[in-house]
Amino acid sequence: MQGFAPVKAEPSKVMSMNYDLSSSVIFLNILESQEGLQKNLKFSKLENPNRIYFDIENAVLIGDKQQLIFDKSKIKEIRLSQFTTDPDVVRGVITFEEGFDTAKVKLVNVNGNIVIRCVPIAINNDYFSPLYDENEESLPYSSIKVNSQVVQKVEIPQSASVKAYGNVIADIQQAFENSTLSNSDGKSYDSVVSVDLSSNLKLRTRYYISGYYLKNGGILINGSGQIAVSKMFYLDGPKRVVIDLPNTFVDKSIRNKEIKICPDGSCKDTARIGQFEYNKARVVITTDDAEKYIPVFSADAQSMLFINADKLNHTDLANTVSNLAKTYVRKIDNKTGELIFSFTEPVVQSILRNDNSLNIYLFNVKSYNEPELIKTLQNSQYKDLTLSLLPQIGVKASMEINKDDIVKVDQSVDGKAIRMTIKRGVESVSSSNPFITAKKTAIKGKIVLDPGHGGSDYGAIREGINEKDITLDITQRVASLLKSKGYKVALTRTDDTYVSLQERVDFSENETPEIFVSIHVNSAVATEPKGIETHYYHDFSKDLANTIHRHLMKEIDTKDRGLVKSKFYVINHTTVPAILVETGFISNDEERAELVTDSRKKKTAKAIAEGIIEYIKSQQTK
Ligand SMILES: [Zn+2]
Repeated sequence: MQGFAPVKAEPSKVMSMNYDLSSSVIFLNILESQEGLQKNLKFSKLENPNRIYFDIENAVLIGDKQQLIFDKSKIKEIRLSQFTTDPDVVRGVITFEEGFDTAKVKLVNVNGNIVIRCVPIAINNDYFSPLYDENEESLPYSSIKVNSQVVQKVEIPQSASVKAYGNVIADIQQAFENSTLSNSDGKSYDSVVSVDLSSNLKLRTRYYISGYYLKNGGILINGSGQIAVSKMFYLDGPKRVVIDLPNTFVDKSIRNKEIKICPDGSCKDTARIGQFEYNKARVVITTDDAEKYIPVFSADAQSMLFINADKLNHTDLANTVSNLAKTYVRKIDNKTGELIFSFTEPVVQSILRNDNSLNIYLFNVKSYNEPELIKTLQNSQYKDLTLSLLPQIGVKASMEINKDDIVKVDQSVDGKAIRMTIKRGVESVSSSNPFITAKKTAIKGKIVLDPGHGGSDYGAIREGINEKDITLDITQRVASLLKSKGYKVALTRTDDTYVSLQERVDFSENETPEIFVSIHVNSAVATEPKGIETHYYHDFSKDLANTIHRHLMKEIDTKDRGLVKSKFYVINHTTVPAILVETGFISNDEERAELVTDSRKKKTAKAIAEGIIEYIKSQQTK
């Protein structure tokens, strides 16, 4: 007898995986199906290497496989992938150092998201963590390598002039400490422990917004973790200011709730917080005074007041006075400089960046040593930075910058140091720019080849076949073809090792090649897609993309997926013509079988090499 097919429930969507260094917490951000998440989520233990895995049934992973790789930590790697598609199962695998007791790893349900907590704390902390970061692509959304950064704690002379000011920040802190996240949503998981997020999970590199409310004429954003801002911008119709918070989750109960900033009717400003992307929160204030809104970070960076600067009572921002004790500058490369301010007490600050300037307000800083500061900054990449002591405000640090410059500001765990990193953008090359010395000219006929992934970063994997192996093989073939024709070739990796995206970019910038070519293998959740696509980002790379793509399509009989303009890190941050070739789909059975053959690799390498040569020759005649 034929039974009825069971009605398949809509799967849960696993949106992202995130880590938090300080508490060794891993978040899986999940949009539940109507049925709710399965009740019996369990860890299974495996040996050699020491690891655990868990399967989320009836779930689909949105986006690519996600992988976190850690250095100098008891957790070695965390990986999340679509384990099977029929039935839908998402599998997470966490690999630990040998000897780490995995019995202490806990699964926690925090408002429908899965939180995995590794006790004891398994990952080392950095002294600095980000407060403001414009370089969103560098954020560890999918594949990261976390190095325990060696940042020396700066020596701080003790000059104790502590004076009681107002208590806004104390209130902020109080509000933070009083917040608890309810996780009593009636679901019981195996090995789930109940958790008070605020007291037990002191997040450092992630943020969980549990509430937002009016405070001293502004909006206080309150939650667990270290708050960071990636961008602030303005929109019209109606006029509003938008501030994005990366690596942030908004509690479901407060998403998109509108609140009036002036309940007394003195203004029409309203505020709203949403989960803008799976991994990003967005605060929108609708107001005629959009340009006046500024973010004020508490000294511990665990709360932020978003307020109209006209309404800000600066003297109320902290209960301690801090002094600038020491300034350090360091040149990272010709385009990038780092500056560290070290203070006697934690600082309360606001970071305001617009198209041509960067201003950092240090609200509770009352003094600095000007001659010493000038001496430190002279001849450095920060020689144009000025400090001024503003009555009623504190110290303002300002510097002229360009629209394309990338600004990052980090704060130390103790709130007593801030680090500013400015990377000058491509378009700010000018003789008057202190960051750029004579730009090295590209070495004609030199090519940097970049085999995608490597080492612990496998890239896409299907049926035991790894993207990283195919990319290296093809790249080495391209390299020897080019070398045999007399071209100078440098590879970002020549064996199975992990190289970060930034290291690949740095390598190319140092080599100063004429062009940069990155080689990858494509993948999709569906098994149908196949074919070749060539990615470029800057318009000056389009010619190169066109030429190589044409050779590939001439040589290989597969689907022509065309040129794609994509903001991949390596082709966006390199300053020479740069492209990324997706040489075929590992997720398509037929194409995967072909990709591993000698003939397909040979044809691919030949097409890429010939495309490169044609392009370089075309440049000589220009
Ligand atoms: Zn890839």
